[in-house]
Amino acid sequence: MAFDLQSELHLRREQGLLRSVRKASSPQGPEMYMDGQRYLTFCSNDYLGLANHPEVAAAFQKGVQQYGVGSGAAHLINGHTEAHQALEEELARMTGREAAILFSTGYMANIGVITALLNKQDAVFQDKWNHASLLDGGLLSGGRFQRYLHNDVDNLNARLARSEARRKLIVTDGVFSMDGDIAPLPQLVTCAQQHDAWLMVDDAHGFGVLGDTGAGCAEHFQLSQSALPVLMGTLGKAVGTAGAFVAGSQTLIDYLMNFARPYIYTTAMPAAVSVATLASLKIIQHDSSRRQRLQSNIQYFRQAAEQLGLNLMPSHTAIQPILVGDADTALKASEHLKAHGMMVTAIRPPTVPEGTARLRITLSAAHEPHQIDQLLQVLSTIASLQSGHHLDRQSVSTGVRK
Ligand SMILES: *Cc1c(COP(=O)(O)O)cnc(C)c1O
Repeated sequence: MAFDLQSELHLRREQGLLRSVRKASSPQGPEMYMDGQRYLTFCSNDYLGLANHPEVAAAFQKGVQQYGVGSGAAHLINGHTEAHQALEEELARMTGREAAILFSTGYMANIGVITALLNKQDAVFQDKWNHASLLDGGLLSGGRFQRYLHNDVDNLNARLARSEARRKLIVTDGVFSMDGDIAPLPQLVTCAQQHDAWLMVDDAHGFGVLGDTGAGCAEHFQLSQSALPVLMGTLGKAVGTAGAFVAGSQTLIDYLMNFARPYIYTTAMPAAVSVATLASLKIIQHDSSRRQRLQSNIQYFRQAAEQLGLNLMPSHTAIQPILVGDADTALKASEHLKAHGMMVTAIRPPTVPEGTARLRITLSAAHEPHQIDQLLQVLSTIASLQSGHHLDRQSVSTGVRK
């Protein structure tokens, strides 16, 4: 048989790596019904609890009343509405950029930008721990593809110094999705300027959460458009809706509109999503109490977890992994939590380096302290999570991701 798919699936199952979906029957939130069971969830990216916010939901319905459901065509045909336009303008204003352009998903935005900017005369320099969509975009672009050591600006410098490519694009996550740490963006800006390179940041986990008005890592580090020319953010995480955007100079945005194939050859996201997103951005910018609640939940969790001797990682964001080490132990811990009504994802190689399997706990502004207490209570009963148990911290910094 030429396409022996069954045996590959079988192998995955043997390795304990077969993936499958669970079915939710309730909205996103700290409490959800999955496959008919009630769970406390600590695995969502709805960091501000906006995915089911009444004002956002009402705006979505209003958007449907005005524009209907489907957008019917690509942006460049007749799928681009006044709502899409208003959202692009708001995203540009909020991030302090000249212009912004919408994509239907973050995955498409990353593929679209990198493949539009680079070809085989060029080079892309990516942090080793970048999101899969950035890596895929780099590979698809045909440019020389290099991965530098995680957050290691010296390593990046050395690679850039050796490059004779026409265009050099440095690409990094703003907040790393599996670790929760923040990229050293000011140093990366300096490095880019020294080598006449451009910096692109994927702010999927920072937009809405970082910065005084939630404008993300650019606001957090005060990075202007010339310092950080390519800023990408997603709308499906802290913003609570769907889609993504790239913000930058008017020239960059005009260029992407003409050269980014995942923008050109796809149906525009529904206009109602834009209307809902505008409502969500209003809450994000004018109500900082959600960001404050998230921060206090993060502090609360870290303090208590430390007292329990859990192996926290150096993260100050909503992503709070607990390092377990061994893949099987991580999976067992996740199953134990599930049996006690807690949904926490086990992250294993090859998603993270060998020996650094972890529980990826994500916190939200919507969590109540007593819910975090319940999580900690169950975590405290899992002996293998306590420090001193087969933990190899060294492998965290030296591990290589496939
Ligand atoms: C989730 C995510 C994406 C993809 O965004 P979608 O809108 O879900 O397609 C891209 N980059 C990072 C870092 C992400 O975490």
